[in-house]
Amino acid sequence: APWTARVLTLFPEMFPGPLGHSLAGRALERDLWRLEARDIRAHALDRHHMVDDTPAGGGPGMVMKPDVIAAAVDAARAGLAAPTLYLSPRGKPLAQDRVRELAEGPGVILLCGRFEGVDQRVIDGRQLEEVSIGDFVLSGGEPAALCLIDAAVRLIPGVMGAAETLAEESFTGDLLEYPHYTRPQEWEGRRVPEVLLSGHHGRIHSWRREEAERLTRERRPDLWSRYLARKGQGMRSPD
Ligand code: SAM
Repeated sequence: APWTARVLTLFPEMFPGPLGHSLAGRALERDLWRLEARDIRAHALDRHHMVDDTPAGGGPGMVMKPDVIAAAVDAARAGLAAPTLYLSPRGKPLAQDRVRELAEGPGVILLCGRFEGVDQRVIDGRQLEEVSIGDFVLSGGEPAALCLIDAAVRLIPGVMGAAETLAEESFTGDLLEYPHYTRPQEWEGRRVPEVLLSGHHGRIHSWRREEAERLTRERRPDLWSRYLARKGQGMRSPD
């Protein structure tokens, strides 16, 4: 089966949403990947189909019930041997390395929280991997799931056209990207850097590399040290 994103949500109608368009949407139509949005509420078996309850210990908001979430997770795991991720602001920050691993596997099972999130016992009991898409709080896991899936889908072989190749993503993938320009050559008094008009591929390549390095050094010291470390490893002689 193609790469599959199985999403557990209280709002299945939010999918495919933006993923039904453009690159991901065309790939979905071509069956290069599959999306299954499953309603968590289908696993709420009590009379009122309750999915949440008040927090133990008091306080505001509601907490998603462990029995309902566990039933949804167990059903989702049947027939898809993929990692189960709980989108959560407390999770490990999602980064390209993990996205790449996920894209290389059979797919992902994604649990989208709402309210105050899910009961801790189901995170522990079902060994859910918590991932965050950034240090900010969304009102639900769905937009985070859309981001993760979008990032993974573009890495699936055949999804990107020749024009959008993923080349240069070895350790240059640790750098922020160099600046882009297009026509006109001069706009509001600002010129496209001369080197980009030179037609000299070697010089263009070096210029882009230097710009990427400069931007990363200035803006993201964290990425910059990782880049230096990996570059150091890569350059060590094989003997
Ligand atoms: N009470 C939680 C806290 O303060 O950590 C916030 C819960 S949030 C309002 C509801 C749901 O949105 C979460 O369960 C999670 O699924 C999702 N969510 C919010 N921010 C997120 C982020 N940065 N990354 C991934 N998921 C997020």
